[in-house]
Amino acid sequence: MNSHEGSCLCGAVAFEIQGDFNSFYLCHCKHCQKDTGAAFAANLFSQSATLTWLSGVNEVTTFVLKNTRHHKSFCKTCGSALPSAQPNNMLAVPAGCLDTKHPMKPTAHIFCASKAAWEECLETITEFERLP
Ligand SMILES: [Zn+2]
Ligand SMILES: [Zn+2]
Repeated sequence: MNSHEGSCLCGAVAFEIQGDFNSFYLCHCKHCQKDTGAAFAANLFSQSATLTWLSGVNEVTTFVLKNTRHHKSFCKTCGSALPSAQPNNMLAVPAGCLDTKHPMKPTAHIFCASKAAWEECLETITEFERLP
């Protein structure tokens, strides 16, 4: 069985996940744009994996947007995105909070109808290895 570890930016929260991911979606919906501040959220999903908090469980809080399925768990101190149990026992894990490598490639882009206007042609713009 695969095991994955992750943590938040300030280091207060650490967790372990046992099991495999079923899908990996890049969500471009307006809710994900707001809660990440970015063009899209990158979340891994699992129906069978188990989540264990290794430290800082009291630092974790969850926001649920009323009348939607939109959930976000995050560290109260640094605001980093953290795993959360979704309705119907689905575990959602923000890809960026993992410290161990996971080999899964994204399954699909979803909610592309809501893409930010500035997301067009991202692959054609100049790239720098570090801060220019
Ligand atoms: Zn933190
Ligand atoms: Zn979304």
